Amino acid sequence: MKRIVIVGGGYAGFYTALGLERKLIRSDEAEVILIDPRPYMTYQPFLPEVLAGSIEPRDALVSLRKNLPRTRVISGSVVQITHADKAVIVRPYAGDDYALSYDVIVVTAGVVTRTFPVAGLKQGAIGLKHVEEAIAIRNRLIASFDRAAAELTVGPQRRRLLTAIVVGGGFTGVEGFGELLSLAECLLPYYPELKREDLDLRLVQASNRILPEVSERTAARVLKSLERRGAQVHLNTQVVSAVNGRVVLSTGEQFDTNVIVWAAGNGANPIIAKHTDLPVDSRGFLIVRADLRVGTEDLLIRDAWGAGDDASVPDLSADSPTGRVVANAQNAVRQGRLLAANIVASLRGRSARQYVHRNLGTIATLGVGSGAFQSGRVGFTGFVAWLIHRAYHVYAVPTWERKVRVLTGWCISALFGRDIVSIEDEQHPRAAFVRAGIPEHHTTFMCDESTTNEVVNTA
Ligand SMILES: Cc1cc2nc3c(=O)[nH]c(=O)nc-3n(C[C@H](O)[C@H](O)[C@H](O)COP(=O)(O)OP(=O)(O)OC[C@H]3O[C@@H](n4cnc5c(N)ncnc54)[C@H](O)[C@@H]3O)c2cc1C
Repeated sequence: MKRIVIVGGGYAGFYTALGLERKLIRSDEAEVILIDPRPYMTYQPFLPEVLAGSIEPRDALVSLRKNLPRTRVISGSVVQITHADKAVIVRPYAGDDYALSYDVIVVTAGVVTRTFPVAGLKQGAIGLKHVEEAIAIRNRLIASFDRAAAELTVGPQRRRLLTAIVVGGGFTGVEGFGELLSLAECLLPYYPELKREDLDLRLVQASNRILPEVSERTAARVLKSLERRGAQVHLNTQVVSAVNGRVVLSTGEQFDTNVIVWAAGNGANPIIAKHTDLPVDSRGFLIVRADLRVGTEDLLIRDAWGAGDDASVPDLSADSPTGRVVANAQNAVRQGRLLAANIVASLRGRSARQYVHRNLGTIATLGVGSGAFQSGRVGFTGFVAWLIHRAYHVYAVPTWERKVRVLTGWCISALFGRDIVSIEDEQHPRAAFVRAGIPEHHTTFMCDESTTNEVVNTA
């Protein structure tokens, strides 16, 4: 029996495993193993709404074990792929690394947030690619409102708490910023101590326009709508330093902030770029043919397949022969499905099909009631674009259970408003328990008066 190992259970990996489960009718045809450090697939387009509190964090996740019952799921990271030996090295959550052999490898490990050597970035910024990051940004903004409202005087500390910055004017950055703005707008009525003009929300973009994925006209409308809502958008600007929350821009402007969201694009997954003998391009992306096999038309690497954001796939729908498929969910899902079909075809001695997909368009959320839409030359912003965004994503999120949960959540929010509670202490769940005072283990709790007093005093 062939062993198929899938590295990464995001969009492309999840749909590959799902397709293999459906197509490999006889269970002795192949064993499918999926390796991912996370036990879930993240529906990333929902992260901006998780940040804003419009979607419950767990509803943006799809359990791998629950939805892939015939796949063996390993919780761990692949730290090396040696195709010459047909083996991967797995780093489990606990315990030592171990080697796992395979007959067929599928590389769908996605990308990482691209960073630059900016002082203070590593210590203070948060990305927007994982659900934990979306939760942390939301908690931090709400906690900042709570703290700012408790300040007696309007001073630098209060200003810092009410300042937030998103770096990156691409899709992720603009959606994240629009939803951050929407969360702040929703919070204000509950904080009579704070006024709209106290807020300082900024979007920083290195180039001369935002949203390169849509037309210039649509992008300009999005920019205007953000500015109308009181945001500051800095074009042709970079963050040059962010030490201890003090942001310095390339224009020379400086300000303090409590929230720095970094969404400045995608970088190659280090495992693909540096820890494999599979071929990668100059950017560190896996070189994949149009049929999703690793290699080129001249050099085929047998039994290795790749798809999704980590792969550089020829775009057969493009006019230029050197065009590559855009890295987005639209393509990752379709590639995952085709990958499953092609692997099964190759196991049964049939030929693989090529990946061809013409982009359907782009939709973005900019906060409740506001969105952007672009398909070909048709582009518009506003409420209808936002409705299309929601309708499309509730249709596209995998599993009926998640669709129902997300839709129900939206209906509840429409009736009662969004939840505005920060549970920032979730990051330190033992803090209250430890603060309560834990008696030393050599004392007898009931009889030791000093310890008992300490507990009472601390409490
Ligand atoms: C905020 C946000 C909004 C987005 N909105 C849209 C949108 O509206 N429309 C759209 O088309 N696209 C959108 N995208 C892009 C889309 O989500 C990605 O293109 C898509 O997730 C790519 O799928 P993938 O399977 O290649 O990678 P991912 O979905 O990122 O999955 C990669 C998986 O590999 C795992 N992994 C990584 N390294 C290893 C390792 N060493 N070993 C084992 N596993 C590993 C990861 O844990 C992850 O589960 C958005 C992205 C973000 C961040």
